Amino acid sequence: MVMIPRIPLLSALLASTRRHNSNRIPLHVVDEPPHRVRLTNGLFRLWRRVIGWPLLALFFITPWLSWQGKPAVFFDLNAQQFHIGGWLLWSEDLLLLSGLLIGGAFALFFVSMYAGRLWCGFSCPQTVWTFMFIWLEEQIEGSRQMRRKLDQGKGTRQQKVRRALKFVVWGLLSLATAITMIAYFYPLAQWWADVIQGDISSVATFWLILISTLTFLNAGWLRESVCTHMCPYSRFQSVMFDNQTRTVRYDTGRGEPRGKHNPDNTSAGDCIDCGLCVQVCPTNIDIRDGLQIACIDCGACIDACDKVMRQIGRATGLITYQPEQQLSPLQRWRLWGYGVLAATAFIVVTLNTLLQPPLHASLERDRLTLYQLTPDDTLINRYTLKLHNRSHRDMQLTVYDQQHAVLHTTLSAGQRAAHSLDIERTTDTPAQTLALRIEDQHTGYQQELPLHFINPAVRGARIAARE
Ligand code: SF4
Ligand code: SF4
Repeated sequence: MVMIPRIPLLSALLASTRRHNSNRIPLHVVDEPPHRVRLTNGLFRLWRRVIGWPLLALFFITPWLSWQGKPAVFFDLNAQQFHIGGWLLWSEDLLLLSGLLIGGAFALFFVSMYAGRLWCGFSCPQTVWTFMFIWLEEQIEGSRQMRRKLDQGKGTRQQKVRRALKFVVWGLLSLATAITMIAYFYPLAQWWADVIQGDISSVATFWLILISTLTFLNAGWLRESVCTHMCPYSRFQSVMFDNQTRTVRYDTGRGEPRGKHNPDNTSAGDCIDCGLCVQVCPTNIDIRDGLQIACIDCGACIDACDKVMRQIGRATGLITYQPEQQLSPLQRWRLWGYGVLAATAFIVVTLNTLLQPPLHASLERDRLTLYQLTPDDTLINRYTLKLHNRSHRDMQLTVYDQQHAVLHTTLSAGQRAAHSLDIERTTDTPAQTLALRIEDQHTGYQQELPLHFINPAVRGARIAARE
């Protein structure tokens, strides 16, 4: 068993948590690193492909897609714009992003409580990339036994060359991942132009190296250590689990006492101690030791064990994906609470996004000149009108005070502008709330903006009359 390196303060915190938390989930790793994973086929691997491949395709293909002449998904940090399909989000919409994150967190609680670590085992990028790297490793270096021999320095020259080739292929995949990630923030067309001209910026080079290196290290070396020691989710999952949560479990009653396969021994359990469930585990644990924080519910051990059970003519399901106790979902109020909170957050965010006006307008009173009196007895209130065209098309705007146009301006898509605006009235006009009307001459879109007109002279006269 490998000892986990400890950080004193963290250890103390964890120790105190353990004292108060009888539901803690332990961790027992099996192999000394490096843990060489054996891939196995089965239902859960099929599901991982069905879920993982479309997500991977989405990740790699999206930067190549365009929408109305622009990248379909593009985070333009300079312009503080986020293009997602036809949606244009701005930095001030970050509140919506917070709503989305809150909804996502509740959705994760809901899924975790119902079906365990589905996210970790089937769609977390750490898992998807790790399985891709393991698959490449097995294709290039050969079986688990061959790779372990090479680790022990017993490999042939050809195997050493294959190991070097594996690193090259891992490196290329890491590079492709980094280029794709950056393409969400820097258009691919611009990327290629820069590469061809040999003019890649230092910022792009920095991110290219950083993301490639992290991908290479995470999926190639750190692997299960990320899930076990870095990811906070594995630490707080036990808060979300109850005994009706589906997780990968070993049926101890049926499997024990384990031992070599002997059809004549009727007192032996079904586990023949072949160790395959351990060899296929990407997080290097033995599920027969019970539920552990490193288990990502990937189901690889189920696939391996079911295969063994079929081979020895016994019923599958020695390792299963089942809850400890089955209750009707209707009796699980905490589960539905999470579901309702997630749905509410998503509905609020969606409605808020759909109802955003194409023009954002605000008025600020000029603080240096609150009002001005002209020789011809006209009282002027001075404002700054701030406009932001949030739409994809240009706007030709006219601002009306009553029926008089006080400003004509054109705003291109995404443009922000500020204009000084004078509102004029006669000196006997009392203070009042007026409404400015802004109209887009292209589309007929209209918006009203309230403004508070002040007249200190009238106000002063009224006060004096009262006194
Ligand atoms: S114990 Fe089984 S389900 Fe858990 S991580 Fe290992 S192989 Fe996957
Ligand atoms: S794969 Fe099944 S039979 Fe083999 S050791 Fe694991 S639990 Fe036992």
